[in-house]
Amino acid sequence: MKSIESSFIEVAGIRIEVVRKAILHLHIAVYPPDGRVRVAVPLWVKDETIRLAVLERLAWIRRQQEKFGGQPRQSEREMVNGETHWFQGRKYRLDIRGVLEREAVVLKGLATMELAAKAGSDAKHRLDVLDRWYRKQLKLEIAPLLVKWEAILGVKAAAWGIRKMKTRWGSCNPRAKRLWFNLELAKKPPECLEYVIVHELVHLLELHHNAHFKALMSQFLPLNGRGSAKNSTRHHWRTRRGNCSRSGAAPKPSSG
Ligand SMILES: [Zn+2]
Repeated sequence: MKSIESSFIEVAGIRIEVVRKAILHLHIAVYPPDGRVRVAVPLWVKDETIRLAVLERLAWIRRQQEKFGGQPRQSEREMVNGETHWFQGRKYRLDIRGVLEREAVVLKGLATMELAAKAGSDAKHRLDVLDRWYRKQLKLEIAPLLVKWEAILGVKAAAWGIRKMKTRWGSCNPRAKRLWFNLELAKKPPECLEYVIVHELVHLLELHHNAHFKALMSQFLPLNGRGSAKNSTRHHWRTRRGNCSRSGAAPKPSSG
């Protein structure tokens, strides 16, 4: 049942992609990195209704777009005091401290990320310190989730690792049973990371993004014990994916 058509409308100066599909409810999402807006709507919904829905959510859409605006690419980071950096879906204010010895990153409360780097070091060096910390934290976050989901899915990854990737949140080589996760996931909410992990592990059962793959995702994510009706679980993982989009992650992992 592939009945998808895409068109564009403009609301309050914002270009909106409208995708009509066989769904029940209208859904608005804002995607990084540039804050493009996409509205998925049931086939029967009129443009006027979409306009009203977008207007109603306008403040929220602008907030999301600003958030992405405050998340420039890494190469543009200046690594100075007051700069915003993300960890596990939360925003932190960078606080640089010059040290002679041990370089480290320490979270102070819920809003400050203290980065202790060699006094006089440049932005690139500070970024390296931060990236090393992100990598370590992400590893700690992934390990138990992999164990949990390998048990649930009845699969086992032979190896996994973290690396910088430009276009994917994760990748899976089903033959070698090797998984890769994007270092950027350290910045994303835990539920987004979990979604990517499940997605890649499901590739050990199904190589392609076909109906079988989608059925497996619907079946397994999330396992929150609330009702096992097929429709409700399917709804849940889609909601989860939606949440990730809304909070800036938009995981669209693909197999590699
Ligand atoms: Zn995939």
